[in-house]
Amino acid sequence: MNIGSQIAWDDTVLPFQLDRSDTRGRVARLDGVLQRILGQHAYPPAIEALVAEAALLTALIGQTIKLRWKLSLQIRGDGPTRLIVTDYFAPREDGTPARLRAYASYDGDALDGEGDAFAQLGAGHFAITIDQGEGMVPYQGITPISGRSLADCARTYFAQSEQLPTRFSVRFGKARAPGEDAAWRGGGMMIQQMPQGAPEAQHGGSGEGGLLLPDDILDGAEAENWYRVNVLLDTVEEMELIGPHVHPTELLVRLFHEEGPRVFDAQPVAFGCTCSPAKVRDSLSIYPAEAIAEMTTRDGIVTADCQFCGAHYEFDPATLGADGTPPSSVEPDGSDPARTPGPTGPSGGP
Ligand SMILES: [Zn+2]
Repeated sequence: MNIGSQIAWDDTVLPFQLDRSDTRGRVARLDGVLQRILGQHAYPPAIEALVAEAALLTALIGQTIKLRWKLSLQIRGDGPTRLIVTDYFAPREDGTPARLRAYASYDGDALDGEGDAFAQLGAGHFAITIDQGEGMVPYQGITPISGRSLADCARTYFAQSEQLPTRFSVRFGKARAPGEDAAWRGGGMMIQQMPQGAPEAQHGGSGEGGLLLPDDILDGAEAENWYRVNVLLDTVEEMELIGPHVHPTELLVRLFHEEGPRVFDAQPVAFGCTCSPAKVRDSLSIYPAEAIAEMTTRDGIVTADCQFCGAHYEFDPATLGADGTPPSSVEPDGSDPARTPGPTGPSGGP
């Protein structure tokens, strides 16, 4: 193995199919993207872990959708971990990278930063929004937060909202290459039973609060196939998922060689944000003049920082707010706080 072939798998999602068991899947490797998402924040370890998990799940799920614009994950709880948001933007053309961004909002005083951030979400919901772009009504599916991880929530989401038996395995951590700073990297795998007119569960599910789980929507040969590939996925080791020394293709052969694995073109993924001065200005247009005055700094400017990418914006208060310049049309990118609360926030003060 050479370095070049290792690097070729970094920041990619590899689609695959298992012919014998009618299963499709994805293998994701994120390193540069994960480092870019987490490196710009000083999140407590608990929050870093949750954002890393959410980013990997988003890359795995986003690549399975025929997406023209954006897929978003939103996990909102009533505990100290308040909100995790991710966006996956479809590649503009075949072969170009999909773009991924993520951020978290939490109560720094109440959070146990070394504890389990998932447990500190409390009660709330796990939502996936698919926005196909201008002129299209976004589709949103919601399930309650359940299980012990975001991967559990995603599994329940697909069983409950999409009637698709789905399973995720994700791992992440910081690794240090010789002579370099420690950097984030992560990997994950998704498997999903292909739709075969799976029988609808009649009497509620076996999950928490009657939520459906994959086993509830399968029977006969499909249930056997699903059981078999899950047992095989259970044997995956952390370093096989995270890489870089085991290639995704080698991993698929190792795990699933008897299931007839086939791979398709890998999708590159890059960090990407869609914020811009015009969009941040639009997001500030909801504030009345008094609020804008409160945001104005001693230097007479209003500043705002993008929570996704860290971009810093400065404005003349006279041009802002409900009494300022009329906003340009809002583009469907999620930087409108009414739809994705909090990606940009005024950072100034009197
Ligand atoms: Zn940004």
